[in-house]
Amino acid sequence: MKITDIETFYLRLPNVEARTDSSQDTLLIKVSTDAGIVGWGEVDSSPSVVQAIIGAPYSHTMVSGLKRLLIGENPIETGRLWDKMYDATIFYGRTGAVLQAMAGIDIALWDIKGKAFNQPIVTLLGGALRDRMRVYSSNMFQFSVQDTVARAKAAVDTGHTGVKFGWEPFGQHEKTDLAYVEAIRMAIGDDVDFMLDVGHAWDMKTALRRARLFEPYNLFWIEEPLHPEDISGYGKLSAGAQQRIAAGEQDSSVAQFERLIDEGGVDVVQIDLTRAGITQGIRVANYALSKGRKVCNHNFTTDINTAASLHFLCAIKNALVMEYCVEPNDIARKLALNPVKFEDGYALLPSEPGLGVTPDPAIIEKYLVK
Ligand code: MG
Repeated sequence: MKITDIETFYLRLPNVEARTDSSQDTLLIKVSTDAGIVGWGEVDSSPSVVQAIIGAPYSHTMVSGLKRLLIGENPIETGRLWDKMYDATIFYGRTGAVLQAMAGIDIALWDIKGKAFNQPIVTLLGGALRDRMRVYSSNMFQFSVQDTVARAKAAVDTGHTGVKFGWEPFGQHEKTDLAYVEAIRMAIGDDVDFMLDVGHAWDMKTALRRARLFEPYNLFWIEEPLHPEDISGYGKLSAGAQQRIAAGEQDSSVAQFERLIDEGGVDVVQIDLTRAGITQGIRVANYALSKGRKVCNHNFTTDINTAASLHFLCAIKNALVMEYCVEPNDIARKLALNPVKFEDGYALLPSEPGLGVTPDPAIIEKYLVK
């Protein structure tokens, strides 16, 4: 089997708001083969930058676009093809958008591999350790406590046993932050897990102070309180806070994750497969396991990411819980013809070959940037 084409589909809502909400657009990747098998992937990045990285011509041995490297290659050889892309982009890659572009292609290659062997991806990753993952409802903070509480109640009413709120306007003032945290805990009761995503709003001392202030509210974790490059801050915070510290969604390379684990000391390693890929995700998860850390996905996009995350989390020993984006827009909610199924607060592992999820051509057509 040979790769014959790599196409990209940039989907975007008609009105993109100035918020930290990455569900407002996405880039889908379609890899075609001469066997008629097609694989789908997704990249959560800047879609037009990733399109350029995929389509770029050859400059020299360490600067190449990705598509020309893969045409004619056997899509089943995911590990070798990852290294081929990595080595041919060293001059401008090794992190950020190049690795994110590689991640989307990697997911599509695993989708093809599953379809070629007539097996779900999880089986090719070593086999399913579980057939479902507990899901938490992942939300943006709303701009009032009242609207945020309404979202929290909706999460519990729809059967979720965990709920997260993140990003603006949280993090700016101690009193307002306390009002949000207190109101959410009151709304969801004592038995629902409450994850707090701070969105880089604090420095290390502020984070330690807030962590102490929030101890009575039993946070499941405190996520990304610091700038992603403040690794020494993460190290001190992880050592000093009573709560679990979670981070990793900004990182794409194994080297970045290893630093976050070793020097940053984080308790929960959050891997977005649409930015790190399945091939690398497994490497990072195994490293985290060797250091006694838990792994979660990061997912604020579509069912392609959700399905990839399920195969990945169900294949690793140290999976903790699964992020599921509940932003109510069509791209986040309606992309898949055959969406991932949910039952009693759990997402069910697809059993079809490959990812088990296919994009709906009507949604692609409706939101495609032409
Ligand atoms: Mg986050």
